[in-house]
Amino acid sequence: MFRWLTGKGASRRALTRTAAALTPELWQHTIASYPFLAVLNDDELANLHDRTVWVLASKGFSAAGGLELNDAITVAIAAQAALPILHLPVTLYEGWHEIIVYPGGFLIPRQEVDEAGVVHEYMQEAAGEAWDGGPLVLSWDDAQHRVGDAANVVIHEFAHKLDLHAGLADGVPSLAGRPDLNDRVWRQVLHATYNTFIEQLDAVEQSIPAHIDPASSEADAWYDTLPIDPYGATDIAEFFAVSVESFFVGPDRLAAAWPQWYELLSRYFRQNPLERLQN
Ligand SMILES: [Zn+2]
Repeated sequence: MFRWLTGKGASRRALTRTAAALTPELWQHTIASYPFLAVLNDDELANLHDRTVWVLASKGFSAAGGLELNDAITVAIAAQAALPILHLPVTLYEGWHEIIVYPGGFLIPRQEVDEAGVVHEYMQEAAGEAWDGGPLVLSWDDAQHRVGDAANVVIHEFAHKLDLHAGLADGVPSLAGRPDLNDRVWRQVLHATYNTFIEQLDAVEQSIPAHIDPASSEADAWYDTLPIDPYGATDIAEFFAVSVESFFVGPDRLAAAWPQWYELLSRYFRQNPLERLQN
């Protein structure tokens, strides 16, 4: 079988070829475009470079929705994807092959069954999606960094891939070969923090004055007091993915509110973004 059909990483030859094609100018430009990458030290950047090359050589990028792919786009996506696995084995990103990039948000067909048993079909707009064993889908517009942003769709979707690599989408990545981490403790802290978050979100929703539409941007000032984006309350898998994007891009509120959860994530990823982003 061809290597790409099995979702395995690229060959040594492909890695060498990809590394040679990645110009220092584009690399520097990419790092400078993302503040959470620009703070990495020289050793970390060398590591990030290797892993970026691995993502570029191992995954097939395809464009959708009229987007024209270029090196600036694929390198920007691969470099962000490389951050979570900076000190982890690249094999955690194996088992699937394709990254599909849309110019902006895209529509996903959804189905919901109501209490009367009636099936409702509708389209939902998304900035990213990760299929179990299948492609990872991204909006390029959302994959670019905006000032003050604690959100990151690339890291979010790759966090889902780390979760799925262990089997279920249950907020528990593969802890095999990690004597420094305990499955039972992980689940305990994960679920306790998730339940706390649901309560915090409830309290924030109660505190929004009646004259403000909770779905409008006017309500942002209230939601911005939460440790992570309210989307994390969707389910345990989303809680994990939203936690991971905050952890890498804007961890202040997460670390202050949930030190135990931050510490676990820090131990799993073998990184301390809070420290390097504060310096
Ligand atoms: Zn998600």
